[in-house]
Amino acid sequence: MKNESICPRTKFCPVFKRKIISEATGKEYRKDYCLVETNFPSCKRYQSFLASGLKTPRYILPDSSLPVEEIVEEAKKFAAHNTQAAS
Ligand code: SF4
Repeated sequence: MKNESICPRTKFCPVFKRKIISEATGKEYRKDYCLVETNFPSCKRYQSFLASGLKTPRYILPDSSLPVEEIVEEAKKFAAHNTQAAS
């Protein structure tokens, strides 16, 4: 059974895993977004993933000021670049 009270992207998200931010900042984001059922849907990383199905660029944070459409465009460029790099 899925735990729907936390963000379903936690397993994959570099922000949640604190790979790209400090321990203290990661703790704040987890508390403010990732682990809060009513808040994770407003995370820009989550919204971008829902809109595109693509990995969100690592530098996008949950409270990014960029509109989701722009983040999706960045995600598409990122995916295209990675496809080229892998071929
Ligand atoms: S940062 Fe956003 S996408 Fe990542 S786990 Fe937290 S709520 Fe989910």
